[in-house]
Amino acid sequence: MKISRVAAYRVVLPLEHPYRLSGGRLLFEELDSTILRIETDDGLVGWGEGCPWGSTYLPGFARGVRAGMEELAPQILGLDPRRIDVVNRVMDTALPGHPYIKSAFDMACWDILGKATGLAVADLLGGRCEGAITLHSSISTGTPEEMVGLIAAARAKGYRIHSCKVGADVAMDIERIRAIAGSLPAGESVTYDVNRAWLPDQAIQVMNAARDVPAYYEQPCETYEECLAVRRATSQPIILDETIQVFGDLLRAQRDGACEAIGLKIGRVGGLTKARRMRDFCVSTGLRMNIEETGGSIIGDTAAAHLAQSTPETHRRATWLSHDMIAVDTAVGGARNEGGVTHAPEGPGLGVEPYEEVLGAPVMAFG
Ligand code: MG
Repeated sequence: MKISRVAAYRVVLPLEHPYRLSGGRLLFEELDSTILRIETDDGLVGWGEGCPWGSTYLPGFARGVRAGMEELAPQILGLDPRRIDVVNRVMDTALPGHPYIKSAFDMACWDILGKATGLAVADLLGGRCEGAITLHSSISTGTPEEMVGLIAAARAKGYRIHSCKVGADVAMDIERIRAIAGSLPAGESVTYDVNRAWLPDQAIQVMNAARDVPAYYEQPCETYEECLAVRRATSQPIILDETIQVFGDLLRAQRDGACEAIGLKIGRVGGLTKARRMRDFCVSTGLRMNIEETGGSIIGDTAAAHLAQSTPETHRRATWLSHDMIAVDTAVGGARNEGGVTHAPEGPGLGVEPYEEVLGAPVMAFG
């Protein structure tokens, strides 16, 4: 089996509501996604998606995805898409770094491997674990009252874990945390996701002032070293997200005891193949994970759901569905919000097929 054609489609994904994170300094109104179609010489088709969360969240941007695809697509023509590690090595040789570009290629190859073998991607990634995947909401930075209102709206959609975006202002953040804690019914929990907005002194002030409030704190500061300083001066569980990009980052964090959990976003680390290696390491070393995509539509979310579904329940915290915040649906099937939980599809491959009318004409095609 050989890859005979690669095509990419640009799809604009409007957010249902404008969304702020990192204490409000980063604003998003729509996402720019690239959906990748890989076809084989025997007629199988695999789908992938690459969608950075805008240009300001990570070192990645939508036009970069497409430029990188133009670079990589000719390199993978003729390869067997079922030999996914080989495809990844060819991509890493042709274009070192740029993990967020490679993820869509890797995803499409997993989809093809599943369709070729009749197995769901979750079964190929180690085997479906019993139990639904718990979802968490994503709560935009706002006033304490606004955030409590957004949590109530998320609760109405079934969410019981909330990722609340805070940061930047110590007094305001303490006020937000108190207001949210005071409004939370039994059985719900919160992550305060700072998205790098605090300096260590701010993180230490807020977290120590709120040490009586049970919560996780995610990516308090910009750099790994700053986050480690916070870890050593506070007691709450810390999740590292943006700073875990390659396997060595995870290795160092585990060795240093820098965090109790990570955000494992498949686009950020280069795709399912590399994310699976990190997942297995986390399972072996007692680190909990939020397994999800960086952004995008139902296609990327579903790929992440397959990795989450094949991860022991003991090691999963929650999964975020980007597409649940998007006003356009790109595909039929996939992992949807079922009242605060989801399941990876059970059919062959990813189990999600794009609507042709949403894709339009390809923006590039090779082969
Ligand atoms: Mg995060």
